[in-house]
Amino acid sequence: MQNSMDKNHLVAVIGAGPAGLYASQYLARKGVEVVLFNREIKPGGLVEYGIYPSKHKLRQGLISQFKRILEMPNVHYFGNVNVGQSGDIRVDQLREAGFDAFMVTTGAQVNTSLDLPGADLEGVYHANDIVFHYNRLPRYADKKLFFGSEIAVIGVGNVMLDIVHYFKQLGQEFRVTAYARRGPTHVKFDDKSLEPIAECLDLEATRKAVDDAYPELEKIGEDVETFFSLLEKACDRAEDCHSKLNFRMRFLLSPKALIGDENGRLKAIQFERNQLVRKGDSILPVGTGEMETAPAETVVFSIGSRVDTGFGLPVSRSNFVTTETPRFPIDGISYEVYNEDLCSTCEDVFVSGWARVAGEGVVGLARKDAERGARAVLQFLGTLPAKDKPSIQDIFNQIARSGKPVVDLSGLQKLWAFEEKTAAEKGLPEFKFDTKEAMLKVIEED
Ligand SMILES: Cc1cc2nc3c(=O)[nH]c(=O)nc-3n(C[C@H](O)[C@H](O)[C@H](O)COP(=O)(O)OP(=O)(O)OC[C@H]3O[C@@H](n4cnc5c(N)ncnc54)[C@H](O)[C@@H]3O)c2cc1C
Repeated sequence: MQNSMDKNHLVAVIGAGPAGLYASQYLARKGVEVVLFNREIKPGGLVEYGIYPSKHKLRQGLISQFKRILEMPNVHYFGNVNVGQSGDIRVDQLREAGFDAFMVTTGAQVNTSLDLPGADLEGVYHANDIVFHYNRLPRYADKKLFFGSEIAVIGVGNVMLDIVHYFKQLGQEFRVTAYARRGPTHVKFDDKSLEPIAECLDLEATRKAVDDAYPELEKIGEDVETFFSLLEKACDRAEDCHSKLNFRMRFLLSPKALIGDENGRLKAIQFERNQLVRKGDSILPVGTGEMETAPAETVVFSIGSRVDTGFGLPVSRSNFVTTETPRFPIDGISYEVYNEDLCSTCEDVFVSGWARVAGEGVVGLARKDAERGARAVLQFLGTLPAKDKPSIQDIFNQIARSGKPVVDLSGLQKLWAFEEKTAAEKGLPEFKFDTKEAMLKVIEED
């Protein structure tokens, strides 16, 4: 049923992060005409606006690949277009315009929130506020952020490490404590990712935190030595500590309330101590009712992310839901939204990347997922009759008529050339504009 070279169909890929770009490449190589929509002006998703700036080589390598994908003759880039129920154009309008299928690769860019009392105090941040700020994403780049010297980060994954890395390079005297609701073997990073901040690790304080948690860890047989060997490996490779930042971790603590001073600024966090309970293969943190208050002038919640519910597809937990009974399973995985209960009008809608499983894995995994999803789309296209394709220019004009400037490849190329020139003039590894207006000015100039 599947067309090996599909020259008849037009697919909308929505979201130009790694998943959307690699899905576009896969489909385009099979001869499909692809329009790649992106909410931001610049493509790349979290490669442009998430990965830590010091990983310059990794990012530039990926961005060079993305540029080659966007130059493929049957990939058409429509940047600065927010697709979805609450966006500039809806999926049903695109369907009417003549698209045969949709691959939703909008990622999971909304931070998970715990809705704690005190969440609106000054000094309370979410991971995106920091990550998008240092990566210069418009709306976040020019926000003024104020940090106290006592900082708490809730969460112990890779994003927490990037945030601590950012605090380190600010060069101020900060004490940063990362809080985990479980024990040390449940941290979600490896020694390599810890390396950039290992020099700042307060081993003594972290050892004491493990000792405090030890009775609970011993109860469920947690192997704390694996955790210490991870820390030691990272510390062995770290340079001498010239930083003013002190970094430590604490365990078995879940935040319950944020406490402010008389001026509405954060001054402390109330935590509940947890015990660990084994349930099947999982180890769950369960509150003991015992409370503890720790000082904090700044808190950053780094506890994961979810898809945007405003897009208009069914959502469960953090992800767009896929049907359990797919028509085109790939390696046993469902990439389809369509079924009577989920969305009976969505037989042409597929999802992949972080939009399918929020927060799962690095760029390589997003690529694999996108390519599998693209295979499912191809199988679906193989069931459709051949028909005349609409003109890409007509679709571009239709969207542009709404007044929103649509950025195409030629606009992007102008922007990239300007950024490169400015970086060279300023002697910077890279240069980015802080606002969409400034980017559009360069793009629209003759
Ligand atoms: C802080 C952080 C650091 C990371 N560091 C690394 C690292 O060092 N190495 C590594 O390999 N991986 C890293 N990752 C993981 C990597 O970024 C992801 O695996 C990958 O970006 C997921 O790709 P995606 O395309 O599914 O989603 P995203 O990269 O989030 O892309 C989604 C795209 O969709 C667009 N979009 C969203 N909504 C809409 C809409 N309604 N209409 C149109 N477009 C829309 C967005 O603008 C974006 O361009 C990191 C992730 C984070 C959060």
